[in-house]
Amino acid sequence: MWYRALIPGARWRIPARQGKSIYLTFDDGPIPEVTPWVLDKLDELGVKATFFCVADNVRRYPDLFQEIIDRGHQVGNHTYHHIQALFMSNKKYLEDVMEADKLIGSRYFRPPHGHLRLSQVRNLSNYFDIVMWDVVTRDYNAKLTPVEVFSYIEKYVRNGSIIVFHDSLKAEKNMRHVMPKAVEWLKSEGYRFLRIGDDVDPLSSFRWPISK
Ligand SMILES: [Zn+2]
Repeated sequence: MWYRALIPGARWRIPARQGKSIYLTFDDGPIPEVTPWVLDKLDELGVKATFFCVADNVRRYPDLFQEIIDRGHQVGNHTYHHIQALFMSNKKYLEDVMEADKLIGSRYFRPPHGHLRLSQVRNLSNYFDIVMWDVVTRDYNAKLTPVEVFSYIEKYVRNGSIIVFHDSLKAEKNMRHVMPKAVEWLKSEGYRFLRIGDDVDPLSSFRWPISK
């Protein structure tokens, strides 16, 4: 996508040198209606994932946030209030992300809606690794059926893909149907599942920059 050039240094895909890997990510939680189901399902499937959390949810459900970590998943910062970068001053945006950092404490950041101005990218890159995606499932789109969501994944996934699901009320219907099916299918295709940051293993062609 053309706008990838506007977010220099961000990660859209992390291909492995040997074998095929997938990065499963969940945005917008944690919430009690959906996240516990996701955690149980991931345990059942035997895969680890990365949760980009909204800090306001972390504030409301700290035990659930801790549970994500205790079950061996990675967490990332998805702002405090799920704010839209393009409508905010750099100062206000960074303040919100830093407030979130106090609760989430992760070096990984994903901007809501995938939007950032170049100046915000520069700002945030001083503190975080920006993690985007190359396969957004659109599980939140009520007009799409689970079959359509699944076939989109089937069509676009490749080695190193970072896939986005949502542990949100809006996405729940599609996600509950599609996520386990997609994981089973990806396993049968020979993909292994990694958390963001796991790629510091020797099989990856990518290294995260040294933290500033
Ligand atoms: Zn989001």
